[in-house]
Amino acid sequence: MGVKAEELGVEIYPGFAAGEVLYDSNDNVVGVGTNDMGISKDGSKKETFQHGVELKGKLTLLAEGCRGSLSEKIISKYNLRGKVQAQHQTYALGIKEVWEIDESKHEPGAVLHTLGWPLDHKTYGGSFVYHMKDRQVSIGLVIALNYQNPYLNPYEEFQKFKHHPAIKSLLEGGTVIQYGARTLNEGGFQSIPYPVFPGGAIVGCSAGFLNVPKIKGTHTAMKSGMLAAEAAFSVLSEGSSMVVYYDFLRKSWIWEELKKARNYRPAFEFGLLPGLAISGLEHYIFKGRLPFTLKHGKPDHKATNVAKLHTPIEYPRADGILSFDVPTSLHRSNTNHEHDQPAHLQLRDPTIPELVNLPEYAGPESRYCPARVYEYVPDENGVLKLQINAQNCLHCKACDIKDPQQNIEWTVPEGGGGPGYSVM
Ligand SMILES: Cc1cc2nc3c(=O)[nH]c(=O)nc-3n(C[C@H](O)[C@H](O)[C@H](O)COP(=O)(O)OP(=O)(O)OC[C@H]3O[C@@H](n4cnc5c(N)ncnc54)[C@H](O)[C@@H]3O)c2cc1C
Ligand code: SF4
Repeated sequence: MGVKAEELGVEIYPGFAAGEVLYDSNDNVVGVGTNDMGISKDGSKKETFQHGVELKGKLTLLAEGCRGSLSEKIISKYNLRGKVQAQHQTYALGIKEVWEIDESKHEPGAVLHTLGWPLDHKTYGGSFVYHMKDRQVSIGLVIALNYQNPYLNPYEEFQKFKHHPAIKSLLEGGTVIQYGARTLNEGGFQSIPYPVFPGGAIVGCSAGFLNVPKIKGTHTAMKSGMLAAEAAFSVLSEGSSMVVYYDFLRKSWIWEELKKARNYRPAFEFGLLPGLAISGLEHYIFKGRLPFTLKHGKPDHKATNVAKLHTPIEYPRADGILSFDVPTSLHRSNTNHEHDQPAHLQLRDPTIPELVNLPEYAGPESRYCPARVYEYVPDENGVLKLQINAQNCLHCKACDIKDPQQNIEWTVPEGGGGPGYSVM
């Protein structure tokens, strides 16, 4: 699509991450600034140093996907949730592989969705298996980040999932081509913030337009981008206000579709079986017209219980055929970051991992991160300290969401760093 956009005259700057929002003196957004390049770990300038650039425009549209780092700052700065009494956003982590399987088992177009196993009844999640072309199969497990047990390890749950007899027989004899992970929005209709701010608007998953029962958000992201473009055109050509974007959204099929699906996800707050009953009733009998709207439970970071309420989960060792260790998977993600740069994963308070996360929650970041970026390793006195292997990061944003104290801030690394997905 980038090529098509460029053919139409759009300028695209791949490899430049927007690191800050630019404001004018009246607090209107006037653009974004890219990060300085060529800064070393200790903050000094390297020979390759280049100043970031300011990209300014009459309007700024933010489309950073789920949990956009600038979008979240803007949502909070202008209180865009409070403005429409939206609930907090809720999230899930999707862990995915693309396999090349045996021709005889491949059915192009076939789709399988499952719910539950290997997750327990209190943890919402399920899998998808999509047969694509060229013997490729996209397979993944999506786990809601409001899980309670700090010992749960989403990566290991996915490895376990592939050993289910139905999945094992599909994958046996195949090879993994790629591995990846990314969070997705699950808050749906109740969690959509007011998507307009002074100087611009938020589109796609940064605003949270994903349809949870379908695990699909590409169509709504594209449509919201189209509606924002139409609104921007009327602002630039007729001098109207970007507020029309919100009106366009509410009159569009995005609104209708998400409203119909609004009770699906919060129904599972009552557990797997009640969730199935309520969401089935809503979908098949009432067709999205139940006269009430269920609320989401606690925000994901508050849902984690202290470790003493749970027992550690023993996961089987990877067999190297269906299940793999993290370094093998990371190699398949092609993730790459310039090593000598300031860490893009920042701790707001560097003492919290050792003072709170480890003693109270048994160090959950060492498990929920699907790239093993966070590791507790003993120092010279044998005391466990958090080590952050930022170069492994898959940019999934789970740590920004799930850290119990909201102590981890995900910021954009030097442009160009990150996973190198080609078939995900
Ligand atoms: C495991 C999984 C499976 C899914 N399966 C499906 C499916 O089958 N069908 C479907 O329709 N949807 C699916 N989705 C959802 C779908 O991926 C999203 O709804 C969709 O990608 C949202 O589009 P977007 O343009 O808003 O964001 P994205 O596709 O996330 O794009 C945002 C882009 O902005 C870039 N970016 C972010 N921040 C910055 C910054 N500060 N500076 C510069 N660049 C930045 C990101 O690198 C990214 O390239 C799935 C999601 C997951 C996680
Ligand atoms: S460090 Fe955070 S964003 Fe990066 S892979 Fe781990 S959980 Fe995801």
